[in-house]
Amino acid sequence: MTNSSPLFRPHRQVRRRALAGLAVIAAIAAALVVFAPAATPAEAVFSGSNGKTGCTAVNMAHSRYPKFIYNDLTSRVAAHADYARSNVVDQTHITTSDDTSQDANTDVVLYDAAYTTTCGFDWYNELDGGTLALTTCDTVYSSGDCRQHTVRISTTYFSGATTGQGRGLLCHELGHAFGLMHTSSSSSCMKYGVTSPAQDWEPAEKSQINANY
Ligand SMILES: [Zn+2]
Repeated sequence: MTNSSPLFRPHRQVRRRALAGLAVIAAIAAALVVFAPAATPAEAVFSGSNGKTGCTAVNMAHSRYPKFIYNDLTSRVAAHADYARSNVVDQTHITTSDDTSQDANTDVVLYDAAYTTTCGFDWYNELDGGTLALTTCDTVYSSGDCRQHTVRISTTYFSGATTGQGRGLLCHELGHAFGLMHTSSSSSCMKYGVTSPAQDWEPAEKSQINANY
């Protein structure tokens, strides 16, 4: 069950599910709710690049050596991001590192805040759920690959999230930054709609990433 918004949404977004009486549970689940566009074969795990920027852009990061900046992140979100990088992203051909300063050459910038309407979405609140996190491409190369991503995480959500949910959410968002789509597989953090998300990409997704980096 979804809200009245159009069902198709870019894969980096986490959409609200308005379930009366189960709002909080639904909101937690919304981070990983299964969503596969009808035109996408079930085995497709990679979205590649489209050369677009903005709140709905879906591009893979251009670099296999992405430099990260944590822009004033809360310690909890930073710890989950560290976990996802070390235990998921860096287990592929990609090798992440911390950037020394945020500039045009930074590949992935993470922010967290009590977002409410950023990018036009209804962000998480305890009463009716909402968007938990959003990964977008801000600048692209002519190839269509993303030069710099922004990952936004809701601190309102994190105030009530478990460690597993936090790790799963960061795994999910970073997956989008490196081109992964949603999956129906419960063994992947790219599954959308479970309260106890996997904290890793599955082998097929890692193979796809390794083939692209
Ligand atoms: Zn997603």
